[in-house]
Amino acid sequence: MLENLSDRLQSIFGGLRSKGRLTEDDINAAMREIRMALLEADVNFKVVKSFVARTKERCLTAEVLDSLTPAQNVIKVVLDELTRLLGETDSRLVLSSRIPNVIMLVGLQGSGKTTASAKLAYLLKQQNHNPLLVACDVYRPAAADQLQTLGDEMGVRVYRGDGQDPVRIAKEGVQDAIDNLRDVVIIDTAGRLHVDEQMMQEARDIKEATKPDQILMVVDAMTGQDVVNVASAFAEQVDFDGVIMSKMDGDARGGGALSIREVTGKPIKFISQGEKPDSLEEFHPDRMAKRILG
Ligand code: GDP
Repeated sequence: MLENLSDRLQSIFGGLRSKGRLTEDDINAAMREIRMALLEADVNFKVVKSFVARTKERCLTAEVLDSLTPAQNVIKVVLDELTRLLGETDSRLVLSSRIPNVIMLVGLQGSGKTTASAKLAYLLKQQNHNPLLVACDVYRPAAADQLQTLGDEMGVRVYRGDGQDPVRIAKEGVQDAIDNLRDVVIIDTAGRLHVDEQMMQEARDIKEATKPDQILMVVDAMTGQDVVNVASAFAEQVDFDGVIMSKMDGDARGGGALSIREVTGKPIKFISQGEKPDSLEEFHPDRMAKRILG
């Protein structure tokens, strides 16, 4: 993920380093190349435009151009702006003092919600919490079985309910957590292949019924440009607090991960990189930016 972008940026920086002094033309040329590299990585074009404008403005200053190490300073500006694009500060999951804490996961079908719910439960268990998973995807019968299997493997209780009403299952799930002394409830909701009104209404109803402390949207990193439309629709219609970027181990170009914060204003909180339960990591924008710059 993002390896191509990383290679491209390194070659652009290599070119700048070999020049010694840098002119305004050198900066303009480098910014054009950075623009192309970001677009090819599938970063949203509006995000690319504002990123390049900010970076260029900061690089075309006497402070950078007249310094002893101008290329180094350009790289520092790019690193800084990339970190800012990814969310600047750590946006870790902070649990509220309410017990049980309710975390609701939303997203399209296939985005990785069920897998992420289980991984989140695993992570919380490692942190000495006692989570409960609630299976509210009543339309895909395999989803509850999948969650049950994952829960069983990790030793995490799964509440499935017996009806077809996801709002009722969610409410009963919260009560089940109270009855069984679980301190965090993770609600896995149903998704569809595309954004539609019924899915949004159901998510709003579950939200209304359980008053989640956090709503996390699971976004498949492979989605590319469309990530922005899907996430904007969820932000408008359900609202969420943060993002879990799934399938970051795939070979997608990764532009969605770079676009989502700027487009929705919501931070990436976790990245999921594989199918194993321990492959959910807290997201650190600075580390990711450094990794991209190589
Ligand atoms: P849901 O429909 O949103 O609940 O999606 P699932 O959790 O069922 O995931 C859809 C598919 O993506 C499944 O085959 C998962 O095994 C796979 N998957 C989920 N997360 C990851 C990930 O981080 N990396 C990889 N490689 N596959 C994933």
